[in-house]
Amino acid sequence: MTDERTAVVTGANRGIGLAVVQQLLDRGFVTVLACRDTGRGEAAAATLTPAPGRVLVRRLDVGDDDSVRAFAAGLADAPGRVDVLVNNAGIHYDTDQDPAGADVGVVREAFEVNALGALKVSQAVLPLLRRQGPGRRIVNVSSGAGSLSSMGAGTPAYAISKAALNAVTRLFAAQLAPDGILVNSVCPGWVATDMGGRGGRPVAEGAASVLWAVDLPDDGPTGGFFRDGRPVPW
Ligand code: NDP
Repeated sequence: MTDERTAVVTGANRGIGLAVVQQLLDRGFVTVLACRDTGRGEAAAATLTPAPGRVLVRRLDVGDDDSVRAFAAGLADAPGRVDVLVNNAGIHYDTDQDPAGADVGVVREAFEVNALGALKVSQAVLPLLRRQGPGRRIVNVSSGAGSLSSMGAGTPAYAISKAALNAVTRLFAAQLAPDGILVNSVCPGWVATDMGGRGGRPVAEGAASVLWAVDLPDDGPTGGFFRDGRPVPW
């Protein structure tokens, strides 16, 4: 087992996840870049500026139970340590327009990845997280679209799944508070990625909104929902 602080980021081969990996490396973490396709993950890792051996590319499809199990077993072997888990993997569909016309298959798929993905990966990684001391965090990359209080009629699959992800945050935060593990949801804002499209903020800024929840002190908030360090109404 490594004696260095170690982070895991899901959906990390592009977009916000990749920028989160870079910012974790900048903070000195050994970082696991988890991705569905390790070829694309290795190519993404080559764009980073790590010291040698500090990025570990691992296969993980958060929608596939067997993949989650295999991923967790691999982590237990090496690096054998997790201090920070960033549940970033997510999907959004251009066809996801309104609840009356929603394709239930699409809603189910979004739920499986965006909500259950974070639930399953958190469960699988928890035994490793529990072994560590101070500085342990689970950060769920949510969206303002999952805020019930400001929810309109748009993007039902995405909104339902992100609201459920926020419930995952609340549930784990309550259970893990006695262990000192902080669990928060963050919204990265509108970010210029494949998902966000053009016009959003730079990806490094969206990632910084995620890192805020990693950088929290051990007596910092848990079970909250934040954008750029400010609370977002549930
Ligand atoms: P991108 O579409 O650019 O990247 C999404 C990432 O998630 C990719 O690495 C993708 O992998 C991965 N992914 C998708 N499905 C799975 C799966 N089943 N298993 C593992 N990985 C998967 O999105 P962003 O970087 O923009 O978004 C990252 C997170 O931020 C998401 O949770 C999103 O909902 C959230 N967010 C984004 C906003 C924005 O404006 N961009 C706004 C608010 C929230 P692959 O390359 O294999 O497809």
